[in-house]
Amino acid sequence: MEKLCKYGTNRVITPKGILPQAATKIDNNMVIKENELLIDVITLNIDSASFAQIKNACNNDVLLMEEMILGIVAEKGKMQNPVTGSGGMLIGEVKEVGKLFPDQSLKAGDKIATLVSLSLTPLVIKKIKSINLDNDQVHIEGLAILFESGIFARVPEDMDEHLVLAALDVAGAPAQVDKLVKEGDSVVIIGAAGKSGVLCAYQAMKKATSKGKVIGIVNEIEQIQALKELKLCDEVVLADATNAIEVYERVMVVNNGPVDVTINVVNIPNTEMSCILITKDSGIVYFFSMATSFTKAALGAEGVGSDVTMIIGNGYTAGHAELTLNLVNSVPKIKELFEKKYT
Ligand code: NAP
Repeated sequence: MEKLCKYGTNRVITPKGILPQAATKIDNNMVIKENELLIDVITLNIDSASFAQIKNACNNDVLLMEEMILGIVAEKGKMQNPVTGSGGMLIGEVKEVGKLFPDQSLKAGDKIATLVSLSLTPLVIKKIKSINLDNDQVHIEGLAILFESGIFARVPEDMDEHLVLAALDVAGAPAQVDKLVKEGDSVVIIGAAGKSGVLCAYQAMKKATSKGKVIGIVNEIEQIQALKELKLCDEVVLADATNAIEVYERVMVVNNGPVDVTINVVNIPNTEMSCILITKDSGIVYFFSMATSFTKAALGAEGVGSDVTMIIGNGYTAGHAELTLNLVNSVPKIKELFEKKYT
């Protein structure tokens, strides 16, 4: 009898002996093992770095994007962008619960959001119904499997499912900000106008309090007024996050020196040095962006003699889904923003 693995290693086809996230191909046969959960997928939320890469590579052509996404899933058995290595997550309805799957209270028809990456989730796409170019969501007909170790959240009945999907995609970011930022801290959010940007900015303002300062970096002039009106940052600065010197000079003007915490939530590569240059030696850079390069960050920091602590943005931290859904639900200005873009 096949030995079951809670991490899904028995679904790895190549290379053998590794975990599904790092595998180049996994088995997406939709007959579940006893410790797995089968999901009827409604919508995929492709993570922003991956979606931006696919959109650029296809010149915003939706048909080419469909072809590319279908091709990736057909080849890998999962939606893992070969350039960024990242995935996203999904919402769907439970179709079948294996008798050894840990949560036996789930029943067919329950609506859930997976909280593990698409880059390790066995997936079959029967049909792409539509792609929303503005919010990274891909509506499909298809099936997915959650492993025994796979975490998920039930979609609250009183919230729109696509809003829940959008918020939970980046739930790790505001929840980590909650842990990293202290009263009186100066904080920079690079990519503050984005989805995780606004959630992080709100949480940073709350934790730093009026004794601290939260500075948002944005790349479009209209975003300055929007963030200021929403009172999500104390200062908003226009700068290209890939231009480390420009970011450094503009932050020095508004903060009079480097900051305690920098949160990177952009969706493009080559922004490591901006974060490192503007952060104190005793400070923290939190790289949530999936376009972050370990090599560029490590060697870049060494190259400028920075002793900063750098943290990889784990998508999971205890209580992340609750904190994020509660934030979106209880802060009307953020709920409105999310409703406009994601529902
Ligand atoms: P998003 O909504 O697309 O936000 C990204 C923001 O970065 C946008 O406001 C964008 O502005 C801004 N930006 C892009 N280029 C810039 C530049 N040169 N200078 C300044 N700002 C720039 O993305 P998101 O959904 O919040 O995701 C943020 C990041 O987190 C992505 O890299 C995503 O892949 C990653 N992520 C990580 C995890 C994890 O587990 N660590 C989980 C989910 C997502 P414009 O829109 O004006 O271009």
